[in-house]
Amino acid sequence: MASRPVHVRAPGKINVYLGVGPRHDDGYHSLATVFQAVSLYEDVYASPSDAFTLEVDGDVDVSGVPLDDRNLAMRAAKLLAQTAGVDAGVHLRIRKGVPVAGGMGGGSADAAAALVACDALWGTELGAHRLHELAARLGADVPFALHGGTAVGSGRGDELTPALARGRFDWVLVLSEQGLSTPAVYGQLDLLRAQDGAVADDPPMSLDVPLAVLQALRAGDARDLAPALLNDLEVAALVDRPDLTSALVDGIRFGALGGIVSGSGPTIALLCDDPDQARLVQDLLRDTGRTALHVHGPVPGARVMG
Ligand code: ATP
Repeated sequence: MASRPVHVRAPGKINVYLGVGPRHDDGYHSLATVFQAVSLYEDVYASPSDAFTLEVDGDVDVSGVPLDDRNLAMRAAKLLAQTAGVDAGVHLRIRKGVPVAGGMGGGSADAAAALVACDALWGTELGAHRLHELAARLGADVPFALHGGTAVGSGRGDELTPALARGRFDWVLVLSEQGLSTPAVYGQLDLLRAQDGAVADDPPMSLDVPLAVLQALRAGDARDLAPALLNDLEVAALVDRPDLTSALVDGIRFGALGGIVSGSGPTIALLCDDPDQARLVQDLLRDTGRTALHVHGPVPGARVMG
């Protein structure tokens, strides 16, 4: 067993495309999504300990992060210990760079990072396939945080197929101080769909990622990808948070090619032509008093550093 902390870094994600099917009896919706991992990271440090303990700090407001068994990283560590028959604990320190309840899968990234970190700390060497299985049991977005890059997600989003993405895509994120609850946003979408004449479309009959999205990614062409960005949850997030519309509109006005609510929001992701344009859009958004960050994707999934 390692005696120094194991440092694992895992990325946040943007859903470049998110098609949401009807709600199933178990409460889940079928999804057709394309994830892209971006350069906004969670850093998890795992140290030997007799008990399971956790501390959280970071660049974002961490006051909403649970420190007990509700924390996904803690659940990941315990699940791995139980599965591999490890009779030891771990101290996890999480340094968060991904906004909490921001629609960027920060908690899922922590869970993926904790799996990889504990696997290295304890020397359990479960291998990619077993880790993926554990990840899927922890949450629908956790397998992607392990995997990283760009991938198509089906089922609940946890059945992954790698997608070819050439080059790099530059994004400007507009962060919100107030998070959005993922179940609440799905609930809002269900309500809108149940209303007569609702602005939200009925659930699509077939859930497929449009060819235009996959072709634009394959070609590494941000100009082709921008008009194909789509998120079925966007209308529900905007109903709850109308202030987000102005961030989208300003981003486009300042030169972004297109924009989208990331996952269940409230983070806005604006796609730009190149790094220079992204820096300009970021600066102009900051001049309006917003918190804007230039990131790029795709980047790798959870991995041991140093
Ligand atoms: P989702 O993956 O559902 O889209 P999100 O990206 O919007 O979620 P997260 O920051 O992952 O948001 O967390 C959502 C909620 O999960 C938080 O409000 C918090 O109560 C809980 N949570 C559990 N573990 C963590 C964690 N390690 N970091 C942040 N939040 C966590």
